[in-house]
Amino acid sequence: MIDTHAHLDFESFDPDRSEVIARFFENKGKAIINIGVDQERIRKTLELSEKYENIFSAIAFHPEEIKNLANFDNVKKYLTELVEKNKKIVALGEMGLDYFHFKEEAEHRKQKELFEIQLDLAGELGLPVVLHCRDAYADLLEILESKEVYSKISKVLHCYSGNPADTKSFLKCEKLMFSFTGNITFVKKENPLLESIQMIPLERTMVETDCPFLAPVPFRGKRNEPSFVHQVIEKLAELKKLNFEEIEQQTDQNAIKFFNLRL
Ligand SMILES: [Zn+2]
Repeated sequence: MIDTHAHLDFESFDPDRSEVIARFFENKGKAIINIGVDQERIRKTLELSEKYENIFSAIAFHPEEIKNLANFDNVKKYLTELVEKNKKIVALGEMGLDYFHFKEEAEHRKQKELFEIQLDLAGELGLPVVLHCRDAYADLLEILESKEVYSKISKVLHCYSGNPADTKSFLKCEKLMFSFTGNITFVKKENPLLESIQMIPLERTMVETDCPFLAPVPFRGKRNEPSFVHQVIEKLAELKKLNFEEIEQQTDQNAIKFFNLRL
């Protein structure tokens, strides 16, 4: 099992972080990608990946950071210097658009600007990208299709929850993967996401927890942790009528290839 999206740097793990990490690696866990979303969290993320052999880092400014950054002048330089210094940074992310928390047109413009700066940088550095997208799939797709070079970047839509029409469009994007979290364990039977899951081939699927958020059933509402990626795999197996090992093996292989992990 590989948890391709965790936030173990969050304060909610302060009391027992090392136990949480041990639980994962003692229970078939192979690797964790920890996602640092602002300068302080990036610092903590890099500390974690320095301390643990099989924890890797993805770093970028989350779209929510438009409220904390006065301008984006130093974003490129700051991220580039960290990538050059640190071999455990395996991706840039999470980056993208969040229209759920930000409703104003001016905010959307800022998010697009920040996103494109970081997407361009991923292209220059040859790194894969972790995409965050809430209520903005059409605009995200428009950006991904706006430059030829973006089609050459490996990308993953984290916490994917698109409907079948979105999914049809995103499946046409080159080098784009879909990642599922605990949310697939509690969607209702009539949720269009379930149809999307059937449309997405296993070769383009990854799994994650997004911990401490989005704990899967039967832990819903509690703090999430990397070992609960087990429940996400189990649910995918049930939905796709495959066994646990088939999903585990293929999603592991996909993550190793996507993030170019040396385990
Ligand atoms: Zn996240």
